[in-house]
Amino acid sequence: MDSGEFENSIPAGNEQGHYSCESGSDLRSSNRLAKTRQRMLKRDLEGRDITDPRVLKVMAEIPREEFIPESWQSQAYADGPLPIGMGQTISQPYIVALMTQELRVNRDCEVLEIGTGSGYQTAVLSKLVKKVYTVERFAQLSESAQAVLGRLGVSNVEFYVGDGSCGWPKRRLPTSRCFDRIMITAAVPKIPEPLAKQLADGGLIVAPVGYGGVQELLACEKKANKIIERLICDVRFVKLLGEYGFEG
Ligand code: SAH
Repeated sequence: MDSGEFENSIPAGNEQGHYSCESGSDLRSSNRLAKTRQRMLKRDLEGRDITDPRVLKVMAEIPREEFIPESWQSQAYADGPLPIGMGQTISQPYIVALMTQELRVNRDCEVLEIGTGSGYQTAVLSKLVKKVYTVERFAQLSESAQAVLGRLGVSNVEFYVGDGSCGWPKRRLPTSRCFDRIMITAAVPKIPEPLAKQLADGGLIVAPVGYGGVQELLACEKKANKIIERLICDVRFVKLLGEYGFEG
C-alpha cells in the first residue's frame, strides 16, 4: 500500500488562509483544475485502494481548491498536503479518502471530527452522514472552514472551537449522548479517554496514533467498553495539542 502522509513536507510560502470565489474569468485554470481532479480520482484514489463508490463520488464533487489559500490553489489536486495557515495543513487527498473509507459511515451516522482545519474532510463527511460535529483549536481556521462550507451550502455541520482531545462539550451533545463514529485528523499519543467515552458501542474511531514523526493509522472499534485496534498503515500527521494530546 502506498502509505504515508507527509504533513510536514510542505513548501514554504504564503500560509495565510485567504480564500477566493471562482472569478469566472479564468476558464483555463478551472479547466486545468478539473483535469487534475480527474487525475487525482483515477491515479491517486482508484489507482490505490479507494474502492468505496460513495467516497469517490463525493471527492469528485467537492471543490478542494475552495479550502486552500489562493496562492496554492493550482496545487489543489496534487498528491500531498498543503499549508492552510497557523502552521497547519490540509491532508493529502488519498489520506482523506482512506480515512473516510475506513470510517465505514452511513446516512444515519453522527460523526465527531477532531481537527476541522480547512474543513475539507468535514465537507467530505457531511455528504455521507446525518451530521458532523467538528472541533478546531484555532478560531481562525474554524471560521474559514465555516465560511467555505456555508458557501458550498453544507448545513449539517456543527462547529466548536476548543480542545478536541477533551471531546465534544457535554452541554451540546446530540440526543443519543454519543457518536457513531469519531475521526481524529491530527496525531495523538494514544486514543484520548474522553473520545473513547463519547463513542457509541459498536462505533469506530479512525486516528493516527504514535509518538514519533511517523504514526500508525488505526481503526478502533468499541465493543462492550473495550477498544479493539486494527492497523491500517503508517502515516505522518501534525500533532493534536491538548490535555489528552501532545503538550503544546
Ligand atoms: N482535516 C483537516 C486537516 C487537519 S490538520 C483538513 O481537512 O483540512 C489538524 C488540525 O487539528 C489542525 O487544524 C489543528 O489546528 C487541529 N488541532 C490540533 N490540536 C487540536 C485540538 N486539541 N483540538 C482541536 N483541533 C486541534
